Amino acid sequence: MALEAPPASSPAVHNVMVANTSKDTKPELMVRRMLREADYPGYRVHWRIDDERGRYVCRPDITYPGRLVAVFVHGCFWHRCPLCELDLPKTNVDYWDQKFSKNVDRDRRKQKALLDMGWDVHTIWECDIGGGVDGLIEKLAPNQST
Ligand SMILES: [Zn+2]
Repeated sequence: MALEAPPASSPAVHNVMVANTSKDTKPELMVRRMLREADYPGYRVHWRIDDERGRYVCRPDITYPGRLVAVFVHGCFWHRCPLCELDLPKTNVDYWDQKFSKNVDRDRRKQKALLDMGWDVHTIWECDIGGGVDGLIEKLAPNQST
């Protein structure tokens, strides 16, 4: 008998909750499980990507090395989700401002480096996971446009 989960705030959230046991609540784990269940296995976790000179570029959350597909799973707060537009903390504004800018800059640099190397780069936001597997698979399909 499973533990009773709190009520879901929407049908999408409900589906995510049903699809995941309580120990796999981290967005990254949720995405990985959804990919396996959608028959997209074969990904690598935190796979090291180097440039052609062997210099370290980054380790995306999820990588399909053969297809040159990299997936970043971003928490909305730390990576400043454009959909959520979460409020900045009200105290230590400068500190947070700098910290968040660094995160966002780093994300952009990694993404650009990968795109320059011919990778497909996909960012999945924490708040977007509720869209379910279909949305994720759509994102995994080759980019139609930039
Ligand atoms: Zn968000």
